[in-house]
Amino acid sequence: MTYHQDQTDVIIVGGGLAGLTAAAFLARSGRRVVLYEKAHDIGGRAQTQRKNGFYFNLGPHALYRFGEGVKVLRELGLEFNGHFPKLNGVLIKKGQPHPLPFQPLSLLTTKVLSWPAKWQVMRLMAALPKIDPVPLESLTVRDWFEEQGFNADTRMYLQALIRLATYTADIEHQSAGATIAQVQRAAAGNVLYVDNGWQVLVDGLRRLAESAGAIIESGARVTAIDWTGEQGVSGVRLADSSTRAAAAVIVAASPAATQTLVGQPSLIDRWAKAAIPVKAAVLDVALKRLPRPETTFALGVDQPLYLSVHSAAAHLAPEGGALIHTAKYLDSADPDPQLAEQELAGLLDLTQPGWREEVVEQRFLPDMTVINALIPAEQGGLLGRPGPEVPGIAGLYVAGDWVGPVGMLSDASLASARQAAQLVQDYLAQQPPLSLELSSIEIKSNSFELA
Ligand SMILES: Cc1cc2nc3c(=O)[nH]c(=O)nc-3n(C[C@H](O)[C@H](O)[C@H](O)COP(=O)(O)OP(=O)(O)OC[C@H]3O[C@@H](n4cnc5c(N)ncnc54)[C@H](O)[C@@H]3O)c2cc1C
Repeated sequence: MTYHQDQTDVIIVGGGLAGLTAAAFLARSGRRVVLYEKAHDIGGRAQTQRKNGFYFNLGPHALYRFGEGVKVLRELGLEFNGHFPKLNGVLIKKGQPHPLPFQPLSLLTTKVLSWPAKWQVMRLMAALPKIDPVPLESLTVRDWFEEQGFNADTRMYLQALIRLATYTADIEHQSAGATIAQVQRAAAGNVLYVDNGWQVLVDGLRRLAESAGAIIESGARVTAIDWTGEQGVSGVRLADSSTRAAAAVIVAASPAATQTLVGQPSLIDRWAKAAIPVKAAVLDVALKRLPRPETTFALGVDQPLYLSVHSAAAHLAPEGGALIHTAKYLDSADPDPQLAEQELAGLLDLTQPGWREEVVEQRFLPDMTVINALIPAEQGGLLGRPGPEVPGIAGLYVAGDWVGPVGMLSDASLASARQAAQLVQDYLAQQPPLSLELSSIEIKSNSFELA
C-alpha cells in the first residue's frame, strides 16, 4: 500500500502568508499537505529582499498589533520582534510641512485644520472607541461623512488617516464599518515594524509547516483545479502537465487567479469581477545616513502620500544606515506612474533634503496590489466578503486578503487561512477514508495494481 503514503489530503495553491498559514495549521493537525508556489521564492507579497545589508520589504509593511494576524501567528507559536513606529514627523498640506497633530494639545494648535474641523475631529476621536462598526458595514465612507456632517477640512484630514490605516483612497465604495473597525484597531493597538522584515514571518511559517510534515514546492505553477459538480474537487494540474490528486484544495491566490484555475463559469467569476484592487506606487530607499534623523514620518493631507523611516524603529538597516518606505495611495483613475515616482522623490526632498547623495539602493514599484479587493459597502462590507467556502464545489476553499469576514490586509489573509484550514478539517472528517475505499477495491480485484 505504498500509494497510501503518497496520498495527499490537501493541496494548497500559493505560498504567500495565507497559503503557508493554512499549510502550518493542517500539517500540525496531522493532514498530508502539499503546497505549490509558482514563483521561485515563497512568500508572495510578504517577501523581503536583502541588499547591501538593508532589508527591503515590498513597500511599507506593518502588522496591526491588535489585528487577527498577530493572534494567528502567536497561536502557531511563531516568534518575531516587532517595534512601534517612531512618529516624529509632519503632515503635509499645500506642499508645507506641519507638526503632527496626533496629540490633543497639538490638535488645538495645528494649522492643518480650521477651528470647526478641530472641534469635529476632537469629538470624533473621543467617540471613536465606542462606535459600533457593524451597523455601518453597508454604508460607504462618503455617506458616513455626509451623515456625520463633517466639513471639507475634517473630511480631508480623516481621509489621510483612513489611507494610513487601510491603504484605501476610494471612499465612494469602501465600507464605513470595515474602515472604522480598522481605524479603531490602529488607534488602540498601533502597528509593529518587524526586525529583519516580513521574510521572518514567511520563513517561520514555512519552518512550522515543514516540521509538521507539509511538502512545499516552489517553481510549481498550478494550471487548473480538477472538479465536478457532483463529486467536488479531485486534485490539480501542474504546468508540467502532471496531475496531483487530493481530497481538498485551498487556493490562496488572487480572485482572478482563482477564477482561471477553476475554469468553468462559477460563483468565482462573480467574485473576480466584483474585486476592486487597492493599489499603491512605492519608492523604497536605503541611505548611508539619514540627513534629518528627527523627521521619521510624513503623511500627505491633500495628497495621498506616505513616508516612514522603518529602520528608525526596527532592525532593517546596517549601523548608521536608514531604510525609508514611501508610498502613493493610488485610486483606480490614477494616471501616470512616473508622476508618482517624482512625487515620492519630492516628498523625500521636503523631509530629508540631501537624501540623493546618501543613496545606497533605491527601488520604485509603480503598481503594487496591496489588497486584492477593497471592502465594498454595496456588498455588505466585511460580512459580504467571499469564502473561505466555495459554494457549489465541495472540497474547494479560498484564502487571502479578499476572503472571509475578519480583518483587512494581511490580517484577512491569516484569518481566512486559519478558517479555511478548519473548514478543510471538518470536510475531510466527513469523507470516507481513502485507504478503506482502496482496500475494498483490492479485495474485489486481486490483480489491482496500486504502485
Ligand atoms: C506595498 C504593499 C504594502 C503592504 N502593507 C501592508 C501592511 O502594512 N500591513 C498589512 O497587514 N499588509 C500589508 N500589505 C498586504 C500584505 O502584503 C498581503 O495582504 C499579504 O502578504 C498577502 O498574502 P497572501 O498569501 O494572501 O497573498 P500573496 O502574498 O499574493 O500570495 C499569493 C501567492 O500565490 C502564488 N500563486 C498565484 N497563482 C498561483 C498558481 N497558479 N500556482 C502556484 N502559485 C500561485 C503567487 O505567486 C503568490 O506567491 C501590503 C502589500 C503591499 C503590496
